[in-house]
Amino acid sequence: MDFFVKFWGTRGSIPTPGYRTQVYGGNTSCVEIRIGDILIICDGGSGLRELGLDLMTRGLEKIVGHMFFSHTHWDHIQGFPFFVPAYIVENTFYVYGSSAGDTRSFELLSGQMQSDYFPVNFSELSAHILPRYLQDNSADINGIEIHSMEMNHPGGAIAYSFESEGFKVVYACDNELDTILENKGVCLSNSEVARIIPKRFVDFARNADLLIGDGQYTDEEYTSKIGWGHSRATTLVDLAVQAGVKRLAVSHHDPLQSDESVSKKIKACRNRAIELQSDLIVFGAREGMELRIE
Ligand SMILES: [Zn+2]
Ligand SMILES: [Zn+2]
Repeated sequence: MDFFVKFWGTRGSIPTPGYRTQVYGGNTSCVEIRIGDILIICDGGSGLRELGLDLMTRGLEKIVGHMFFSHTHWDHIQGFPFFVPAYIVENTFYVYGSSAGDTRSFELLSGQMQSDYFPVNFSELSAHILPRYLQDNSADINGIEIHSMEMNHPGGAIAYSFESEGFKVVYACDNELDTILENKGVCLSNSEVARIIPKRFVDFARNADLLIGDGQYTDEEYTSKIGWGHSRATTLVDLAVQAGVKRLAVSHHDPLQSDESVSKKIKACRNRAIELQSDLIVFGAREGMELRIE
């Protein structure tokens, strides 16, 4: 089965349109995964609006989508009220909760459409929007295996892995790897960090063909952002190398980073991979970029 990943939003925290962010894009988190004719959507940041417009041009009689939200901070749900396919009666979207009865994502998607915030009420959306749940942190969609894991982020966030026919993609935004290491507010060196990355994180990403991870900060930026809930990009490289990941998409770029700064951050990541004598492929997730998983 064809397995594709497309980035529709790669910015963290807040949309950042403008000339400084044209290369990597200014829309917040949204990734499309297509496996055969199954459509999976990870997060609904402002990039979801763009995905919706694109879906409308694909000539589909009806759209069925499986939506997985890492968490419900604004930058991961704010595109939903502008997601055109949700307004069309033929379409169906399943919103997954992390465990039986977990309707948090579902409720907050509808909550952000209360009249104080948005002119159209959630109940006026014509598509079928239905809650579904993971059981024991896993789900199955027509043979596609899905697993989830709690990450380290204020208020919580969930990573997801998607596996089909021996291929694996992991989506892991937002996550602060460095504080999990209990460094108590001290920024550890890369080699110190490498020794103590928790095994459960490495295991979750084990042998992924693609890891899409939170690498919001450069090493310099991170020193003043400890505890904010996001990782140093170079720590993400260490995790990816230990897990034997093939390709690493560094995502959730800080809104203060221009295209030039993101490119520098990625260069530092590649240098870290070289230091580790790894052949990991590292790149900056960029809006509009499409990858075939093979
Ligand atoms: Zn975020
Ligand atoms: Zn967040």
